[in-house]
Amino acid sequence: MKAFVLEKYNSPLVKKNIPDPVCSDSDVLVKIKAAGICGTDIKIYTGKLDGIINLPHIPGHEGAGEVVEAGKNVKNIKPGDKGIIYHYISCRDCELCRTGRENICFNIKRTGFELPGAFSEYISIPAYNFCPVSSKNISWFEMAILPDALLTPYHALKTLGKVSKSFKVLIVGVGGLGLHAVMIAKVLGADVACADIRDSSLTKALSCGADVTCNMKNEDMLSIIKEWTKGEGVDVVLEGVGTEATFPNSLKSLKKGGKLVLMGYDPVKPVPLDALGMHYNEWEIIGSRLGTKQELLELINYVSSGEIKPIISKQLDMDQINKVFSESMLDTTVGRIVFNGL
Ligand SMILES: [Zn+2]
Ligand SMILES: [Zn+2]
Repeated sequence: MKAFVLEKYNSPLVKKNIPDPVCSDSDVLVKIKAAGICGTDIKIYTGKLDGIINLPHIPGHEGAGEVVEAGKNVKNIKPGDKGIIYHYISCRDCELCRTGRENICFNIKRTGFELPGAFSEYISIPAYNFCPVSSKNISWFEMAILPDALLTPYHALKTLGKVSKSFKVLIVGVGGLGLHAVMIAKVLGADVACADIRDSSLTKALSCGADVTCNMKNEDMLSIIKEWTKGEGVDVVLEGVGTEATFPNSLKSLKKGGKLVLMGYDPVKPVPLDALGMHYNEWEIIGSRLGTKQELLELINYVSSGEIKPIISKQLDMDQINKVFSESMLDTTVGRIVFNGL
C-alpha cells in the first residue's frame, strides 16, 4: 500500500510503497477515505514527542474509512461498512478500562502515535475500535475529525467539566478543538465566552454560537469576564492553549469552586500555578485526554441529527500533506484541514 512516512524530524514525509497491514482474527482492515491533521501532528513532525514516536513512522490519528476485510472472530462488522476509527487502542482489561476510563488505560496504544496511523491507504485496527456510521448526513471529511477535534472537547466539557444548563463557560483558544467546544457547550445548555488572539477565529466562534468574545491581544479578558458574570467568574474554563501566556488569567477567570479543564498543553514548558488562589477559592484543575468510545458514539448521534456541525476549513488531497507542514497552514486556518484518502 501507499503511505506517508516520517523518516526524519522536520523533513518532508516520504510517500512510499510498504506492505499492507495484516488483519488478524479480531481486527478489521479499513481503507482510509479521509484523514484529519491536527496540532499534535506538528508536535510529532518537529520531534517534540520524540519519547513516544519511533521513526520511521506513519502519523495520522483522525481517520474514517470503509471496511475491506474482517477477521474471522469479528461478528458484527463486515466489508462495506463505513465508519470512524477510535484511535485509542486500550487493553479493555485493566482497572481503568473496567471503570469506563479506557482513554487513560494503563496499556494504551494509539494509531498515529505508537502504532502506524491514517496517512496511508489502509489501517488494521481491533474491530472494537471501528465505530460504524449509518447516517448519510455525515461526509467522510466530517467523520474523520470526530475522534479528536470533537471528541476531545466533548469529553472535557460534558464528562469532566460536567457542563449543563445555565453554566457560564469560558473557552480559551478557539482553533480546531475550541470552535467545536463552542458548539458542544451550547448544545449542553451553557452560555459561552471565547478568548483568542485571532479576530478570524473569534468571528467564527460567534457564528458557532458564542455569546461573548475577547481578543487577548488588545482586550482585558479578566474585566470582560468580570462584567459578563457580574463579578463572580465562570463555572468552567476550557483551557485549550495551556501555556504560561494564557493559563494564569484562565485560572483567575473562575468562580469560587469552579473547574478549569486543561485540554491544551506545551509538551516542554510547564505552566505556573497560583496555589494560594486555589486554596482560597477551591478551584479545581482537571487534565483532559481525548474521550471514550461511548462518548464518540454519542457524538455520532449529535452530528447525525445536525445538532453539531463539524467545521472543515480545507479539503486537500493527501499528496499535499507536506505543504501543510512547510507553510504552517494550521496556524492560519480556522477549523480543521482534512485529506482525501490515498
Ligand atoms: Zn489530534
Ligand atoms: Zn486498560
